[in-house]
Amino acid sequence: MSRANAISRSAYNRAYLAKRRAELKAAGLCQWCGKTPAKPSPRGKGLGCRCAECASLSASKSRASMARKRPAWNALGICSQCGTRQAMPRTHICGVCAERRSEYQADHRKVPLLPRDPTLETEP
Ligand SMILES: [Zn+2]
Ligand SMILES: [Zn+2]
Repeated sequence: MSRANAISRSAYNRAYLAKRRAELKAAGLCQWCGKTPAKPSPRGKGLGCRCAECASLSASKSRASMARKRPAWNALGICSQCGTRQAMPRTHICGVCAERRSEYQADHRKVPLLPRDPTLETEP
């Protein structure tokens, strides 16, 4: 098999997968296994791209891969969230990820924070 042939084969595979995914999406099926109905997307409208089983499998794979990488990133002083930027001093996270995380936590917090209580504040 020549190299040109290999490239055209991979282009064909990409086109095939895109077509297949569009078919599965139109049918409302999981785009990973193609058997079970896709679960509704958590916040947006319509369906997600995976069924509940495939989504949890993908999440556990992602967690395992992050757990494998995190010690090395921490040792190098790289952000353990994105793995690309330098972590802030005395933390394991970069400024961009810290901002994103606090934004996410602000609208995903299950128990809303109470306004600040002055009686709880202790003067040193
Ligand atoms: Zn599935
Ligand atoms: Zn980061």
